[in-house]
Amino acid sequence: MKIDIGVAETVKGFLDPAEGKVLYETAMEASRLGPCLEIGSYCGKSTVWIGAGCAENGGILFAVDHHGGSEEQQHGQEYFDRELYDEKEDRVDTFGAFRKTLSTAGLGDTVVPLVCRSEVAARMWNTPLGLVFIDGGHSFEAAFTDYNCWARHIVAGGYLLIHDIFENPEEGGQAPWEVYKLAVASGLFRELPRFRTMGILMRLGCGQMP
Ligand code: MG
Repeated sequence: MKIDIGVAETVKGFLDPAEGKVLYETAMEASRLGPCLEIGSYCGKSTVWIGAGCAENGGILFAVDHHGGSEEQQHGQEYFDRELYDEKEDRVDTFGAFRKTLSTAGLGDTVVPLVCRSEVAARMWNTPLGLVFIDGGHSFEAAFTDYNCWARHIVAGGYLLIHDIFENPEEGGQAPWEVYKLAVASGLFRELPRFRTMGILMRLGCGQMP
């Protein structure tokens, strides 16, 4: 199936295209090590970038999202989007938009959607992963849960990417940055140069030092 990476630009979302390109390039490497997994697909913008990287190697991207929108996307909140609101069901529902993105981009044979909360998907998880991208809920509890559930599954040489890193509280919420610092302090990852708001860590193998 031919992947149309340009579709990413037409999809609603909060990801800079230059950061998307970093996701694409990292996924192209990581998908040789194992499947990739993202938390917080929303309408599928990052899914297109990571999925396109996976597709280069015939890889798989697991895309985890309950598709009910995060805290700040609910009715009356700052990032509420009426187009993603199901009046009849009285709830935010991004799954329709997400599926449309997958079919438009040609990612049907690459992306496996997991429509549930991240910790539910993780409960019986036993598959080593080449890459984990954390971009789900931005409360500390949500971001830490995503880290705690999934970072343990990353293979040596695989990547942990965390979006929306803001060192300065005036620029954005602090939870992803707090979780990033915890990951670094664990001593189990090597810090690679951050790109804009994207934190990039590589899982160390036995005998490797940060
Ligand atoms: Mg984000």
